[in-house]
Amino acid sequence: MNDRTQPHMAAPDTAAQTGESYFVNGKIFTGESEKHFVSGFGVCEGRFSRVLEDSEINSIPSDAEVVDLQGRTVVPGMLDIHTHPAFMASLTDSLEIFPPRVTSLDKMLDVLRSHPSLGAGSEAWVMAHGFDESKFSDGRKPSAQDLDRVAANQPVVARRCDGHTMVVNSFALELAEITAATPDPEGGRIERDDNGAPTGVLVETSAMNLVEKQRPSNGDRSAEQLAGLDEHFLSHGLVGVNDLYASFIDDPLPTFRRAGEQGFSPQAVIYPGWDALVDSAEAGIVPDLSDDDRAGRIKIGGVKLFMDGAFSDRNAWNEDPYPGTCSHGGRVATDDDMRSAVAWARRNGVQVAFHAMGDRALNQVLTLFGEDEPWMGDVPSIRLDHASLFTPEMIDNLLRARMSFGVISHTIFFFAEYEAYANNLSDTQFDNAYPIRSFYERVPHTALASDSPATAWADADNVFTSIRAAVERRSHDGSDIGQNQAISVAQAMLLYTARAAEVTCLEGLGRIRPGFEASFVVLDRDLFTLPIEQLDAVQVSQTWLAGTKRYEA
Ligand SMILES: [Zn+2]
Repeated sequence: MNDRTQPHMAAPDTAAQTGESYFVNGKIFTGESEKHFVSGFGVCEGRFSRVLEDSEINSIPSDAEVVDLQGRTVVPGMLDIHTHPAFMASLTDSLEIFPPRVTSLDKMLDVLRSHPSLGAGSEAWVMAHGFDESKFSDGRKPSAQDLDRVAANQPVVARRCDGHTMVVNSFALELAEITAATPDPEGGRIERDDNGAPTGVLVETSAMNLVEKQRPSNGDRSAEQLAGLDEHFLSHGLVGVNDLYASFIDDPLPTFRRAGEQGFSPQAVIYPGWDALVDSAEAGIVPDLSDDDRAGRIKIGGVKLFMDGAFSDRNAWNEDPYPGTCSHGGRVATDDDMRSAVAWARRNGVQVAFHAMGDRALNQVLTLFGEDEPWMGDVPSIRLDHASLFTPEMIDNLLRARMSFGVISHTIFFFAEYEAYANNLSDTQFDNAYPIRSFYERVPHTALASDSPATAWADADNVFTSIRAAVERRSHDGSDIGQNQAISVAQAMLLYTARAAEVTCLEGLGRIRPGFEASFVVLDRDLFTLPIEQLDAVQVSQTWLAGTKRYEA
C-alpha cells in the first residue's frame, strides 16, 4: 500500500472469509430496477450470497455474524466507465486549475507560481491542468507570453480542462523546436498569430506530444502513482473503472497490474489509444492480445480513437457550422484509422471506443459500421463515448443498426461548461445536447461517467455532483440545460451501477445480487429522498470491495 493513502484507510474489516455474514436493517438499492430495495443481504467468500426482503430477516442462522446498517442507505459499488486513471497518475506533479477555484488568468498564473518546481532549473517542469478560459472575464485563451510571466528559463505548461489543448511558454516552444516553420502534425494544430508565429497553444494529442515528449519520463513511478489513486476512487465509492486512454503511461497493462500489486484495488478495464499502439508497433502492425491480457481484475477491454475534439474549443465535428462561422470543427481519426482499429478489435475480441462529441463525428461512426456484424457477446462492440450532440433520428439509426453500439455520456460536462455550450451551439443543437433521458429510455447499453480529469470542474468524478446535474438539468450557475431530459435519482444511480456494468467488461459488479462481487457503498444519507439541491452533498461513509471494508470516511 502506498504510504500516502495508508493513514486515512480504515483497518480492513473482512466479512465472512470463513462463514456467511449478514448486513441487515439497511435501505438497500440493489440495482435490479428503479424501485427494487431490500433491507439486508448475505456475503460469503467475497460474493453476495443472498438478498433479504424484510420478511426473511428471521431466516438468518443464529450463529452468523450480523452487521447492523442502522437504517443507512446502501448502493452497489459505483462504476466510472469513462475516466482517466493513467492521466491522473501522470498529473501527480501538476497542480489543479479547475473552476470554480480558478476563474481568471491572474489566479491561474498565481497557482503556477506556487509550483514546487518553479526556480528549480531548466529541467524542472512547472505544470498545471484544468483551466477553462470561458470562465475568465475576457474569455481569451492564455498564450506563451502569459506563461512567460511565470518563468522564462524553464518549461511551463498549462493544460486546458478538456485535455485536448495545452498552452506552453516560449521556453517549452524552443525546447520542442516549434517555430513558424514547423508544420502542423497529422490530426493536430499549432496555433499561430497573424505572422505565422506559434502562440503557445497546441491542439490535440499529436501537437501536444511535440512538447510532452521533451519531458523526462516518469520511469518506474507510474505504477506507484496509480496505486496512490486507490483512496481517491474508494472514497468516491468507485469499485470499477474504465481508463479511456491508458496510453498516458508507458506499457499500460503491465503498469496497471503492478499498481494492482501495490494497492490499486478497483477493477480496471483499460483502453489504450489506437494512435499510441500504431506509433509503437513495428512496421505498423499492432500485435494481437493474449488471453491473459483480456482476463482478470485489470485487463484490456478495447482501444480508443478520437473522432473529434471538444465543444468548448469549437473543435467537436458537427453537421452544422459553429454559429457565426463556416467551421464545422475538427476531425481527428480518418476512415482508414477507424477501419483498421475495428478490424484489430474484432480479431482480438475487444471493444472499440470512439471519442465522438459532434453529431457529424457520431454519424460517421454510425454510418461506417452500422451494417457490420457485431463481434462482442453481451457488451456492445462499439462504444460512442461522450455522445454530446445526439438527435432523436440518430437514436433511431443506432437502434436500427445491425452493429451493437453503447453510449456513454455526461451531465457533468453540460453542468460545468454551460457557457461554452451556450456560445457554441445553435438553439436546435442545444436542445439535442446530452439527451440522457432519451438514452436511458431508448438505448439498452448506456451509462453516465465523469471523464475526470478532462472535465472542467474540481472533483469531477464525484458521482453525486453528476447525479444532481442529471436530475436537476441545471448548470453550475442555475441555467436550464434541458428539463425534458432530466432523469430520476434511481435512474441516474442505475447509469452508474447496473447499466454501466453492461456497457463494458467489468465482471460481477453493478448489482447487489447473489453471485456478484460483494462490492457496495454505504452512504451518509438517503439520496433517494433528499431534496434535489442537496444531492451533491451526499458522502460515501464506507466502501466495501469483494466483502472487505476498504474505506471508511
Ligand atoms: Zn476522456
